[in-house]
Amino acid sequence: MNIAIDGPSGAGKSTIAKILAKELNITYLDTGAMYRALGLKAYRNGILPTDEVSVEKILETTVIDVVAGESNTLVYLDGEDVSGQIRQHHISKMASDISALKCVRIYMVDLQRKIAARRDSVLDGRDIGTVVLPNADYKFYLTASVDERAHRRYLELMARGEECNEEQIKEDIAKRDYNDMNRQHSPLKKADDAIEIDSTHLDIDGVKEKMLCIIKAAK
Ligand code: C5P
Repeated sequence: MNIAIDGPSGAGKSTIAKILAKELNITYLDTGAMYRALGLKAYRNGILPTDEVSVEKILETTVIDVVAGESNTLVYLDGEDVSGQIRQHHISKMASDISALKCVRIYMVDLQRKIAARRDSVLDGRDIGTVVLPNADYKFYLTASVDERAHRRYLELMARGEECNEEQIKEDIAKRDYNDMNRQHSPLKKADDAIEIDSTHLDIDGVKEKMLCIIKAAK
């Protein structure tokens, strides 16, 4: 069984994906973490995310492993645990920019399909229902207003003790939405057969109930 959850940044995809994976006893694959890991590698090597030739070159020697841990996803870049570093604010932008490159999409989609073929899993991302797993058993498109997503991210960063400005976060999220929805390759969009859930006025339990209801009803 495969479950695809797509949607814009900060809609709560990874939180709900983790909960579903636990509830259904299946694997959780955070595909955004894979783009983030590559973004981090490019950043460390001083490679611009628009420089496709150099990015393609580093891809040849890059090994990305994503392991679902007890409470969070562990991400290894060439054997190094980079789970914390990939969540830094500047890496979000690198990940979004680098994910627009065709060579990157081909590499990641192939890797994600191989992982999903091996085990029952829930994948969250931008193109899971449209490109990675067009035949997924269940497809959800999770959204929320930009204001609500920015507010949630703000609270998250504050809780981690990171200094931040809510207006700036909102601007960055809107920019990433635009990038993700308007890129040439695999833009973020709802698959025709995906069920859309707007979480602006729903807490995580509300989203969980809706999804589980749909999954159980179809069984
Ligand atoms: O989900 P997350 O915010 O961690 O993803 C980081 C970036 O990776 C996104 O802004 C998006 O550009 C890219 N991404 C993607 N396709 C996916 C998952 C993430 O293009 N399946």
